[in-house]
Amino acid sequence: MKYKHEKASGGTKPMWLLWVLAAVLVVIIGGMLVKYVLPAGGDEAQNNAEENKVSEDNNVPSDEDKAEEDEKTAEEEPALDGDAEVIAKADLLARGYYYDEAIELVSALESEEAKAKKAEYERLKAALVPYTGRYYHVFFHSLIIDTELAFDNKGHSAEGYNMWMTTASEFKKMLPLLLENNFVMYDITEMVEIDANGKAVPKQIMLPEGKKPLVISIDDVNYYDYMKTDGFADRLDVDENGRVVTIVKNADGSESATYDGDVMPILDSFCLEHPEFSYRGAKGIVASTGYAGAFGYRITDLELYSEEEGKAMLAKVEEVAQALRNWGWQISSHSYTHNQYWNKLTITMDEMAYDTGRWKNEIMPYTGKTNIMVPPFGVSFDPDDARFRYLIDEGGFEIYCPVGSGMNAWFEDDVFFMERLNLDGYTMIKHPERVSNHFFDPSLVLDETRPPLD
Ligand SMILES: [Zn+2]
Repeated sequence: MKYKHEKASGGTKPMWLLWVLAAVLVVIIGGMLVKYVLPAGGDEAQNNAEENKVSEDNNVPSDEDKAEEDEKTAEEEPALDGDAEVIAKADLLARGYYYDEAIELVSALESEEAKAKKAEYERLKAALVPYTGRYYHVFFHSLIIDTELAFDNKGHSAEGYNMWMTTASEFKKMLPLLLENNFVMYDITEMVEIDANGKAVPKQIMLPEGKKPLVISIDDVNYYDYMKTDGFADRLDVDENGRVVTIVKNADGSESATYDGDVMPILDSFCLEHPEFSYRGAKGIVASTGYAGAFGYRITDLELYSEEEGKAMLAKVEEVAQALRNWGWQISSHSYTHNQYWNKLTITMDEMAYDTGRWKNEIMPYTGKTNIMVPPFGVSFDPDDARFRYLIDEGGFEIYCPVGSGMNAWFEDDVFFMERLNLDGYTMIKHPERVSNHFFDPSLVLDETRPPLD
């Protein structure tokens, strides 16, 4: 059975904002309406992530922790009106479409302002409408940070990067344009549900009138060896506040943790500043292969490392995966081998079993269970093909995202198919209309350091 472009419903996942809420509630209910100032600017991220971490470990911080925290805050922060702080938090929640949570927060307050806020959030919630428009899904590869290195034709060919990659500068310029054009990040796993007959069917999407749900994915988040000298990040890591950072190697051999070395930290920062760009904390899909490990850690070549190094890398992949999830990201399979036999569709049943088995046994235990398959080279199979059925059944997938510039989406048997448009040099230079028809004029973002593309 096929349904095309149908509507699908709102997601409820414990994203970072919910952890903020949990922490706030603990503070309030504990009768300690304290000096808990919403920090300005970038510190906000740290604060949220900090609360996130506390909540994650225990669900509720122990009294000891709390007392310690309160003491710290009391010393460091000037006292502020408790209502104003709670309203500021509630406003932040409401901007991210956490209406129920915002209403609950201000319901505990008595002031006229709080009552007005509650009414405002209730109005916003009542104004949500079922989304009936088309689906949108765009994808990237890891971003080029240093275009001089990427386009120097040493190592990997400049043309390849020029065609299939996007630069960090371009990605940063796209986000405000997407926001302006009413796009909002939406969790792909909340677009589909499996009915009583085991069929994939659209799940209702509820959004403010005029808003459009957007899915973003990033392929090959592996930081392959061949990219090492070409101006990309080296790997992902987690900062002291639980946030995913990119580790970048500097020319002198030293390393820096950065917040703008790939799609994930850039989008996380943008959503902290613009919570309205993410529906209830949703971000995108991080697609990982297996043959070179995950997130820049060579966990499938452990024999090359000492036992200690091996253990540390496995733990790091788990830590990065958990941090990504805490910040609203999904992690998908992008196959284990990414072998050309996928591209040519010559993959045999044995090869499919090998690929799927190694993904399941060597990568998924560390990156976490997923129902999303982002196929290598964006390939499609006939849905009745035995190899495809094996992949879906043995891999445990319910969502399959091939490449397709039409961004078609359909539900067939037990799978939600969602095509993806590549927002890279090839599309922006060769087929700008594919971008401008839906999103923005690519000439507004194109990196001027790109060499000409024939
Ligand atoms: Zn790929």
